[in-house]
Amino acid sequence: MTTQEPTKSKDFIRAIIADDLKNNKNDGRVITRFPPEPNGFLHIGHAKSICLNFGVALENKGVCHMRFDDTNPSKEEASYVEAITKDVRWLGFDWGDNLFFASDYFDKLYDYAVQLIKMGMAYVCNLSADEIREHRGTLTEPGKESPFRNRSVEENLDLFTRMKNGEFADGSHVLRARIDMTSGNINMRDPVIYRILHENHHRTGDSWCIYPMYDYTHSLSDAIENITHSLCTLEFEDHRPLYDWVLDTLQTPSHPQQIEFARLNLTYTVMSKRKLLQLVNDNHVSGWDDPRMLTISGLRRRGYTPASIRNFCDTIGLAKRESRIDMGVLENAIRNDLNDSAPRRMAVLRPIKVIITNYPEDQEEMLEIANHPKNPDMGTRQISFCREIYIEQDDFLEEAPKKFFRLSPGREVRLRAAYLITCDEVIKDEKTGEITELRCSYDPASRGGSAPDGRKVKGTLHWVSARHGLAAEVRLYDRLFNVENPDGDKNTEFKTHLNTASLDILTGCCIEPSLADATSDDRVQFERLGFFCLDDKESRTGRPVFNRTVTLRDSWEKVKGKK
Ligand code: ATP
Ligand code: MG
Repeated sequence: MTTQEPTKSKDFIRAIIADDLKNNKNDGRVITRFPPEPNGFLHIGHAKSICLNFGVALENKGVCHMRFDDTNPSKEEASYVEAITKDVRWLGFDWGDNLFFASDYFDKLYDYAVQLIKMGMAYVCNLSADEIREHRGTLTEPGKESPFRNRSVEENLDLFTRMKNGEFADGSHVLRARIDMTSGNINMRDPVIYRILHENHHRTGDSWCIYPMYDYTHSLSDAIENITHSLCTLEFEDHRPLYDWVLDTLQTPSHPQQIEFARLNLTYTVMSKRKLLQLVNDNHVSGWDDPRMLTISGLRRRGYTPASIRNFCDTIGLAKRESRIDMGVLENAIRNDLNDSAPRRMAVLRPIKVIITNYPEDQEEMLEIANHPKNPDMGTRQISFCREIYIEQDDFLEEAPKKFFRLSPGREVRLRAAYLITCDEVIKDEKTGEITELRCSYDPASRGGSAPDGRKVKGTLHWVSARHGLAAEVRLYDRLFNVENPDGDKNTEFKTHLNTASLDILTGCCIEPSLADATSDDRVQFERLGFFCLDDKESRTGRPVFNRTVTLRDSWEKVKGKK
């Protein structure tokens, strides 16, 4: 399994499991499962469930099963199975041989249903979906019994067999558990456990035209696999009586314990696969792995590391009550990780050319620069310097206030790891007035960036040699939605809150040549600009594309604010 550190503090689920182990419940075994439905890609909410299920198994020398809950062939696809598998592995978890599909149990589930019918605990109902809903009652009114509720066992067996054999149309018959139409819990009012669906399944093909429903399938799959703790999100709390009813009634060899926890909600995003699918289908994003999507694959492309996501899940902990975590907490997790681990590089996103007039035209030199300011073990590299360099447009102001510690006419700044330069002249386009070039002079005695006479030079700018730098495209991202809770108002479609400025594509960037060999596994800090990683899906030969993973907490921002 993963190299993740065991969590030290005990949340309420870990406390329950520790107690069970102390009492030798389940013979001291811990078997959990992560049960995604392959109807979309995994998102950061699923990561919470993955870290919990695999985490508690790991900490207790148990196992965690990977199980696909594939009972709805109209929404499920093999490609989603592949994407989900890849994402869980990438997060650092391993299920060994324990890969399962609910569809593997279709025969067993069918046999269990026959058993329920024989016990008088299930019946075939001919009411339509609408009629079933009408009969179900409300929170304050009991339900009404179906006129088909008292069919004989023989008739039920015959009809159920014929449902299976494909004699009936979709929606004409269902199999329902015979529980209690007056129950205070609506889930117990004779829930549907099988429906007819003439649909090809991505694993079982056309073998079946009846498919078991979620609650029925889930409880039995857990029992078949001898799961000890079935950890799920709070919306299943009201389904627990049904979960237990199925297992108690059928007297399965094992009866897992269902425990609910609060799902993860994050600000500035939506978290349901159904909604994420809409964003994909309506082309609001480039795909499930768009770097703005809070899917695992989107976060991976954005530059998030598996460790940062695991740490994030650790930080937010587990609760019994729903809450919304600030997106900043997730951004901090990756910032903290990359701040220590990412080598520093220089790149200029919006270049303006600087000519160093007193630097000989035919001269070039190599300068040494540290790869990390705090970690000498990360070593140094050589960067080329010459007469023409690029700096950031933002780093120059023609009429600058006093506290602008960057370049402006007559002022001196430090070029990182290079020299001190002073701006002497501003060249503009005659027609547009736009600044096209800055003429500067350098102090040859300041090699490395320190003044020979100890004079104070406050500003340090990043730069790239115009002769040596490589052309690149850089993509800056903002949050996908411009309100904290896009789902918050029932009368407004969540898509109306999309942030139309969430993607900023900069095509004329210049990056230092050492980045030519970067791969999407490398993550770097572009000095003063943030953390970045190569997007190998978008990059072309000669035109690398870098994604900004996250900004720096940058003191420069403060200066800008005052200007
Ligand atoms: P969605 O609502 O996004 O479609 P889902 O619950 O339908 O999610 P599943 O594939 O059924 O998606 O989820 C697999 C597991 O992940 C379930 O056990 C579910 O409880 C858990 N899970 C889903 N969303 C979250 C979340 N936001 N936070 C924590 N766990 C989650
Ligand atoms: Mg679900």
